[in-house]
Amino acid sequence: MPAPVISVVIPFYAEGATLAEFLSSVTTALDKSGWSYELVLIDDGSPDNTWTTIMGAAARYPAIRALRLSRNFGKELALCAGLERARGDAVIVMDGDGQHPPALLPDVLHLWQTTGVDIVEAVKTKRGPESLSGKLSALLFYIILNKLSGFDLKGASDFKLMNRKAVNAWLEMHERNVFFRGMTVWMGFTTVRLPFEVAPRSAGKSSWSYLKRLRLAVTGLTAFSSFPLQLVTLAGAVFFVFAVLLGAQILLELIIGSALMISLGIVGEYLARIYEEVKGRPRYVVTESIESANTQPLPAADATRPITGP
Ligand code: UDP
Ligand code: MG
Repeated sequence: MPAPVISVVIPFYAEGATLAEFLSSVTTALDKSGWSYELVLIDDGSPDNTWTTIMGAAARYPAIRALRLSRNFGKELALCAGLERARGDAVIVMDGDGQHPPALLPDVLHLWQTTGVDIVEAVKTKRGPESLSGKLSALLFYIILNKLSGFDLKGASDFKLMNRKAVNAWLEMHERNVFFRGMTVWMGFTTVRLPFEVAPRSAGKSSWSYLKRLRLAVTGLTAFSSFPLQLVTLAGAVFFVFAVLLGAQILLELIIGSALMISLGIVGEYLARIYEEVKGRPRYVVTESIESANTQPLPAADATRPITGP
């Protein structure tokens, strides 16, 4: 069987309820476009009936190839598994929850064919119904990522067409920490953007917990910027300068302090002597004396008597 021209890679996690309907809208859209295609479906370790539904669909549509991961590895790795197996000249990646409208597929293919670009990227004009905190944290993430890495990923989605050249380049990236959106932007290649509005989920709820989102954000940031690493060196340098300045200041204060203490000590020495003098005590005290009778008693000491000869 010749390789199909278009591969559509779709990861599914617990989408059993809507999968059959979703697949029929995908095949309808692709049939309309007139290209030959294959669907590469990945069951990312779903706990529900996703796999049996996929098997049922595969019996009806020969274009389906599917694989089931042994456990839930996360969407990015499910995409990896799909991309490695896709055989098409162009590969389209899309979500399996209906948020990436299958009706857009003919437009994506048409744009690829008419422009001859390597990548057609569907960009969100409006994020789907999401909580305010979800929107804000996504915005913050894209701002930080843009500042750190220089790549503008705002509006980027995982709804893309890549030609064989781009897919092969993507497969050359062997990292374990996969951030699909960022890696395709990083590769470069000629890209056109096709705006679309994110549809509400067809059923269920997004399986991205805050923790999972945060983990993907950290993967994205660390994969595209080594600035956080350099930040440590920078902090070290800044603290070193502080330490030297602070050390010099403390040394100076110690020197000044000890000079002051020595000066005070010297002043104290003089002060002690002045104190002794101020007290004006006699130099000595006599307790008894003997004078012989013929001897003239010495005149009493008279400090005011002028010193004269004998
Ligand atoms: N998905 C997956 N593995 C997971 C989580 C999600 O394959 O661990 C699939 C899911 O079935 C859907 C797509 O990835 O087709 C997008 O998931 P979701 O709608 O939960 O994410 P969001 O639209 O909120 O980014
Ligand atoms: Mg979704």
